[in-house]
Order: sequence, then structure tokens, then C-alpha cells
Amino acid sequence: MHDSTENILVTGGAGYIGSHVVRDLGEQGYKPIVYDNLSTGNKDFVLYGDFIKGDLKDTNLITKIIKKYKIKSVIHFAAYIVVEESVNKPIKYYNNNFFNSLNLIKSCIENGVENFVFSSSAAVYGISEEFPVKENSQLNPVNPYGRSKMFTEILLEDISYIYKNFNYIALRYFNVAGADKKLRIGQKYENPTHLITLALKTALGEYESLNIFGTDYNTPDGTAIRDYIHIDDLSNAHILCLNYLKKERKSKVFNCGYGQGYSVLEVLNTTKKVTKVNFKTVNSKKREGDPPILIADSNLIKDKLGWSPKYNDLEFIINSAWEWEKKLKKGE
Ligand code: UDP
Repeated sequence: MHDSTENILVTGGAGYIGSHVVRDLGEQGYKPIVYDNLSTGNKDFVLYGDFIKGDLKDTNLITKIIKKYKIKSVIHFAAYIVVEESVNKPIKYYNNNFFNSLNLIKSCIENGVENFVFSSSAAVYGISEEFPVKENSQLNPVNPYGRSKMFTEILLEDISYIYKNFNYIALRYFNVAGADKKLRIGQKYENPTHLITLALKTALGEYESLNIFGTDYNTPDGTAIRDYIHIDDLSNAHILCLNYLKKERKSKVFNCGYGQGYSVLEVLNTTKKVTKVNFKTVNSKKREGDPPILIADSNLIKDKLGWSPKYNDLEFIINSAWEWEKKLKKGE
């Protein structure tokens, strides 16, 4: 356990991934200070700590919070995350994901923050020749979302090089799904775009059919392949990152996935098996900005942090998300 007075600033802590990490921080004895504008987050998902409603662009407010709570560590989730939207609205994405991150980091540097965990993404790899992909592989992001994450990583690298007291870990997430075991928190978006969520909502009859975006990718069944990871394993990785930064004071970049890829068709077949609903699918054209294959090589985070995932099982992940979706539907 840690000193319970240790405050950790969590931007975007009311969102899907952020709220799970806030839960784990609270359970580990940290005090999360959640900063979120609630554009996609939910205030009642914040299970521990203090909540402050605020926008990432409000640097003055962020600076006040860093000073007031004597923040030494920040976990930065707040960002826009929809790939296709980023293609159509690049300024929105660069502004929030990059420019606002720059101002946050600047405020951190000026106010003595030492540890910074950044939500990066497998989207930084884009169209990669390597499967699974390693952290030192060529970055070739193919959409503004991925580029905004890559630029922020570069920024962190440059800043930590010169400000020796400031260290960061960029955690490159692969495809996250599933929910809290007690079903207190999970994925809840007004306009969901993720495959597993949409498939489950289709099984529940909330949508008539599920679009399969692209059936002529250069993959065994023609659909795109992703590495799906359970939210609790990803959340745990953040706690390990924070503890590593505090102890080792070294910057790192880590992939976070299972190293196992599933095609869209495989995910849909497993979803049908879990839900026992043979929902309708429609072959559709590729979504703009979608890379064909993303699979993590996660040996580095296992070696350096001792990350040992517990839920590497697609059926378990989909079932966890299914329990949550059923609960959401009942609560309507
Ligand atoms: N996908 C799909 N139908 C959907 C949503 C997603 O075929 O309704 C595909 C998408 O094109 C991608 C994969 O499923 O190849 C995972 O997409 P998701 O949005 O879940 O995550 P991303 O990999 O884009 O972050």
C-alpha cells in the first residue's frame, strides 16, 4: 500500500479506461484527482478520490490543481479517440490531443511534476510490416488520431531529455474491451464505434445489423486483425508504470496487448457464441484510416514491469463486455 495522501492527477479519469485506472489507484491506496470535461466520461464512474470538471485547454485551472494537490504524478488519458472522425476533423484532434497535451506537459514541468504516464495507441504504428509489432518498429501512423499520439510521444521524448526530473511512460494500447467485474464501470458512449461494443448492442437488438468494415484486406479471411485486451489487464499496467517511474525514474515506451490477433469475423463469431444471438452482419467498405493488422509484442512490458496479464481469452473479454451491455440496457 502507498501513502494515502499521495495525490495522482488523472486527466480523463471519468472515461472508460481512466475510470478503471482510478478504481485501481484507489484500491492501491493512492488518491486520484480526476480532471475531466465529461464530454464522453461519466461522473458516477469515478469510484475514488476527488472529481474536478474541467477542460484540457484550461491550463490555468490545471496549474492551480497541480499546485493545490502537490501533484508529482500525472496519468493523462483525456483525448479524442475516434479514428474516422480524426480523418474528417484533423484540427479537432491535433488541438486536443497534441496542443492541449503540450500545455499540460508544460504546466507539469513548471510545477515540479516528475512522473507522467501517457495513453498512447497502437495507431502510432499504422500500416506496419511487422506482426507482432515491437516498440522500436517504424512508426507509420495513417490517420490524424495516430499522428496526434505519435507527436505527443515525440514531445515527451524531447522534453524528458532536457528536463531530467521529468520522466514518462507512453503506453501503446491495443484494442481494449470488457468491464469491471462488479459491473460498476464499463464502456458507455453516446455514439459507440468499437467493434465488440457494437456487436453486443446489435445482439441486444439496439441496432438492426453490424457493418463489417472491409472484407478484402490482405488477411486470411479478408477482415482486419486486432489484438483485443481486457480492460483490467490494461488498467493494471498503468499502476505498474506509475510505480516504475516513481522507483526507477526512467522514461520508457511500452506496448500493451496480448500478442494474439483476431479478425473481425473471428470476433463476431465469438460474440455470437457468447450471446447466443445470430445477429445480422453486412459487408461494407473499409473505414477510412483503418490499418489491416495490429498485434502487440508485449515482451518489453513483461520484462521491465513484470506485467502478467490474467485475461488473455477472447471469450472471457467478450463475456465481460456482454454482462456490462446487458446491465446498461436494463438500466435504461
Ligand atoms: N469494425 C467493424 N465494424 C464495426 C466497428 C469496427 O468491422 O462496426 C472493425 C474496424 O474496421 C477495425 C476493427 O473492427 O478493423 C476494430 O475497430 P475498433 O473501432 O473496435 O477499434 P480500432 O482498431 O479502430 O481502434
